[in-house]
Amino acid sequence: LLEGVDVRKSFGTGARRHEVLHGCTVRVHEGECVAVIGGSGSGKSTLTRILLGLETCDGGDVRFRGASIGAHGGRRGDAGRAAMRALRRASGIVYQNPFASLDPRWTAFDSVSEPLRLRGAHGGCGDTALEDRVADALRLVALEPRDFLYRYPMDMSGGQAQRVAIARAIVTEPQILLADEAMSAIDVAARLQILDAFAAVRARNPKMGMVLVSHDLGVVQTIADTIVVLHDGVIVEQGSAADVLGHPQASYTRDLIAAAT
Ligand code: ATP
Ligand code: MG
Repeated sequence: LLEGVDVRKSFGTGARRHEVLHGCTVRVHEGECVAVIGGSGSGKSTLTRILLGLETCDGGDVRFRGASIGAHGGRRGDAGRAAMRALRRASGIVYQNPFASLDPRWTAFDSVSEPLRLRGAHGGCGDTALEDRVADALRLVALEPRDFLYRYPMDMSGGQAQRVAIARAIVTEPQILLADEAMSAIDVAARLQILDAFAAVRARNPKMGMVLVSHDLGVVQTIADTIVVLHDGVIVEQGSAADVLGHPQASYTRDLIAAAT
């Protein structure tokens, strides 16, 4: 579905230029949830942002359904631009802090309907159909539309606001969903509801691929099929969640697991 091949990325210029991704190869198949784990500053956000076409890279490439998006920005041709548009249209993103990602002046209806409205003609549906689709997305993440449709973020808990952010990310039925530390700012009890929401989204759309960045190995174990371990911009290990967590090969992975238990 989505692959990043030998992705390299540097930041800074001149003497301050340094490479933060040293040739990373990651694949996400239909229906697969790939978790990217690793210490702070290891490059998880940068790698996943490049995968989703949100950032350019300096080496390697990203392919969506086999088509190169021309991830080196400048050299992107017509075909690359088309693949990039397809990827953007097909992806949804959930960030760490729902109160930063949701507009405080907007109700849940405003936030969740926006991606549909942006597609023009309400994604092909009229006003009542628009409300129905928003209500359906809210129900999927276990928020009762009667209570939440016209509620503002400041009148929600962190877990509720994050579920609205998830509803917004999935209302267009994306083929690929990125969640970058989507549970880190949420208290432990509400994390279970977020996990349930992601499980419901995946059950609704079994072909959707998911990229999950998390430092919570409990969360990773619950939801991920595959784990990629990133250490200082290098993938030191990747494999099935059971293998990586049960029989870690790299000493860095063993350290991560030891630190978490
Ligand atoms: P965290 O777990 O703290 O979110 P991360 O694994 O997501 O960390 P990244 O945010 O991808 O790490 O950052 C990787 C490296 O790239 C870090 O050294 C960071 O300082 C650097 N970096 C990231 N974005 C930029 C930028 N826009 N300009 C310069 N350096 C950057
Ligand atoms: Mg990050």
